[in-house]
Amino acid sequence: MEDGCRFNTKLLHGKTSAGYGQREILPPVSQVTAFQYESMEELEKVFAHKKMGYAYTRIGNPTLTAFEQKVNDMEGGAGAISTSSGMAAITAALLAVCESGDEIIAGSGLYGGTIDLLHDLEKLGIHTVFAGGLTRAEIESRLTERTKVVFGEMISNPALKVLDVPEAAAAAHEAGIPLFVDSTTATPFIARPLSLGADVVIHSTSKYINGGGNAIGGIIVDGGRFEWDERHTALREFRKFGKAAFSVRLRTDLWENLGCCMAPANAFLSYTGMDTLGLRMERICENADTLARALDEEEDIQVSYLTLKSHPYHEYVARELGGYGGGILTLRTGSRERAFRLINALHYVKIASNIGDVRTLVIHPVSTLYLRSGREETEAAGVYDDTIRVSVGIEDIEDLIRDFRNAVRVSRNA
Ligand SMILES: *Cc1c(COP(=O)(O)O)cnc(C)c1O
Repeated sequence: MEDGCRFNTKLLHGKTSAGYGQREILPPVSQVTAFQYESMEELEKVFAHKKMGYAYTRIGNPTLTAFEQKVNDMEGGAGAISTSSGMAAITAALLAVCESGDEIIAGSGLYGGTIDLLHDLEKLGIHTVFAGGLTRAEIESRLTERTKVVFGEMISNPALKVLDVPEAAAAAHEAGIPLFVDSTTATPFIARPLSLGADVVIHSTSKYINGGGNAIGGIIVDGGRFEWDERHTALREFRKFGKAAFSVRLRTDLWENLGCCMAPANAFLSYTGMDTLGLRMERICENADTLARALDEEEDIQVSYLTLKSHPYHEYVARELGGYGGGILTLRTGSRERAFRLINALHYVKIASNIGDVRTLVIHPVSTLYLRSGREETEAAGVYDDTIRVSVGIEDIEDLIRDFRNAVRVSRNA
């Protein structure tokens, strides 16, 4: 880490942990709608951004500020804005830079909700062109006058493709376009996209950042280095803020007006959950690696995990991501029926539509997350009729392996 200490120390003792108003060690939950002032003059100054202060929770709240500063610090950003969900974060970030007639270049195999959102944006006149793994050639061949942003996922879920951020950022920047990265599955423990050249990082904090599966949330972190120019017409009125144009537009305009603020209680839960991000990620990655190797020995199960030798990215992960493959692996069982039998035979592992929980969770993506997607999009996401997605938790690995081995055996006997 650039400021001297390592990940876990920074999480607990970084810039944001100096204590709060009454010397609380954690940010108090400011569970209020509005803030009161001594005089009308004072509140006028707060509204005019001439005095620091809070007026109304939809446009700012100290518990949200504490959480935003913590994530911003860990990602190495210039400022962050929390949102009611990961989808709200992606929506606000894209609408801040795109207007009707504009184009987005997006990686394929994105999170299902993001694909649905990009379809929704078509109705507002914002068009998306999909571009595989966002290599230089794939980006360059899709750039037009109307391209306003390149959007990709750091580690795609569940396709398990890794974004080469330096290459994608270079191709985008040469055309005057920013790179936005959804880093939900990587977390700052595995990768910090801003330090690799990305301009904006987005998280669904509902997943690994919160970690306990107890609060929906999202966050947008601005690297503050991109040079917004006349090409970025959606930021027209904000160009005078220079490199802060994107953050200022979000904070004082779009995010505020969309009304997608995070709830103060959720910011508190996400803040305290994030304290253990390093510990959890280390254990999750170790468990996922061991489980993937154990299940890889089963002849009739096909395992996909980033650190397996059979995975196309395994060398990249060893070289660029410290050997950490994240918490998601997929299994192919041969048929949808067997996938269901295997899932139903698991004892500890829960059937649930979530990732990043401390508990191991499984789901059959085709019949749930991709119910509304076409076959082509589904297969681009690495999802087939017989695919099971596993989000590995922090349980004792012996118990996880035993649970999965038993379910594999039971599922064999139809
Ligand atoms: C879950 C998820 C989202 C959406 O986040 P919500 O908090 O559920 O709205 C976006 N991107 C990725 C990669 C996700 O896993």
